[in-house]
Amino acid sequence: MGYETDLKLFIDGVWKSGEGRDAHDVVNPVTADAIAAVPYATQADLDEALAAANRAWPEWRSTEVEKRGAILRKAAALMRERVDVIAATLTQEQGKVIAEAKAEVLGSAQLFDWYAEEIKRDYGRTLVRPAGQLSRVIKQPVGPVATFTPWNFPIYLLAKKVAAALAAGCTVISRPPHETPGSATELFRALADAGIPSGVAQLVQGDANFISTTLIASRTIRKVSFTGSTGVGKHLMKLCADSMTLVTMELGGHAPVLIFDDCDLEKTLDMVVPQKFRNAGQVCVSPTRFYVQSSIYDAFLKGFAERTAKVKVGNGLEAETRMGPLANARRPDAVSQLVDDAKAKGARVLTGGERGDGGYFFQPTLLADVPDEAEIMNEEPFGPVAVSRAFDSFDEVIEHANRLPYGLAAFAFTENGRRANLIGDLVESGMVGINTFAISIADAPFGGVKDSGFGSEGGKEGLESYQVVKAIHQA
Ligand code: NAD
Repeated sequence: MGYETDLKLFIDGVWKSGEGRDAHDVVNPVTADAIAAVPYATQADLDEALAAANRAWPEWRSTEVEKRGAILRKAAALMRERVDVIAATLTQEQGKVIAEAKAEVLGSAQLFDWYAEEIKRDYGRTLVRPAGQLSRVIKQPVGPVATFTPWNFPIYLLAKKVAAALAAGCTVISRPPHETPGSATELFRALADAGIPSGVAQLVQGDANFISTTLIASRTIRKVSFTGSTGVGKHLMKLCADSMTLVTMELGGHAPVLIFDDCDLEKTLDMVVPQKFRNAGQVCVSPTRFYVQSSIYDAFLKGFAERTAKVKVGNGLEAETRMGPLANARRPDAVSQLVDDAKAKGARVLTGGERGDGGYFFQPTLLADVPDEAEIMNEEPFGPVAVSRAFDSFDEVIEHANRLPYGLAAFAFTENGRRANLIGDLVESGMVGINTFAISIADAPFGGVKDSGFGSEGGKEGLESYQVVKAIHQA
């Protein structure tokens, strides 16, 4: 299956391309060849998108939740029906293996279904007052929302924002990453075909800085939801300060994985190795820093290295491939530099450590005895590299886990219940997975602390992030 998605902008219910707009190449990371061209939004496009989102908002927020939910459910059904085409587009523009791409599309449909239901049970409250008086607390949609999403999960991370915002009664303007415009286009095609009213949802492709600056400065946008790097997140927050625009920031992470000697080592290794190389490590909650209790450190390294050597790297469209290339030309350079720095500072390379052949490939890599001074112990590698070192005591490993400014996800493997409870309490992160990596689920909040950002996506909290609270008192 080729790249079948017709790349366009979607503004005020109309698909747009051509007409003198700039077009930029979309590149397949397997070959580094251009496979499509994406039209870039102009100032006139953004003006039109803002006017449409503003105009459509009062009617959409007043639309019965049953009707809003029905459109979201229909869009979910269309995504499921089209899963093969959407996943093929996603794999070709981003590189992840086709099974992961399909799971991402189906997970996106599930988010639409979940928010279509959740909005029906979104209640306010009545406060206790003397007879004849009434005080109510109600939640209302914040208004037109701008979303900025990254290329690592280009449809799922967009679905998290768009499904919750639309369910809450907000209108949206979404800017997907220029590297992966096709899967975002397919999400909007599903919404359009499901009957989303004109002006409720716009898709503006193109230059990130131009689009974010223009949308935020407009004062039409009441909320910005961003997923991406901490640096860009801080920049957008500064832009939002001037207009007091609300923000949700889902930023980078550097997840510690605490492996205790009472875990089932074989079972743990069977879980952690595929998880490390999922999406070639380009996952904000990817397990990254492996702290392993000294008594099982050597056995852990041996088992990890053996499994890593067997990970089949290649074109994600081929069924036997287990890991594809990195998503863009910037990533292999960045990962190489981090691995070289770690080696220079004394880390041992047990497997991989080099770029792969052609395209943007990098070998699945395991580094041992990585010192705290190595850049990769401090900076998110966002690539297929596991870094490891041994620990002795519980207090020591908690200190290691918390030593970075990041706090997105943390994982631990132990059969000791009391230790598991303590880890849940003591590790500074938005999510903790104990004996599991399943932490991104439609009904659960997902978000970070410290430099990993704030605000939650997913769950009831994800809906609330698109609402403002009002207290109405009546004597
Ligand atoms: P980047 O910082 O250039 O961009 C990150 C994302 O923000 C991209 O999707 C980009 O299109 C968007 N962006 C950039 N400038 C923007 C602006 N002015 N306004 C709005 N959006 C803007 O980084 P990159 O090279 O794409 O990725 C590098 C690093 O970003 C990774 O190493 C990783 O740390 C982080 N990242 C995190 C996530 C996540 O899920 N939290 C996703 C992708 C990348």
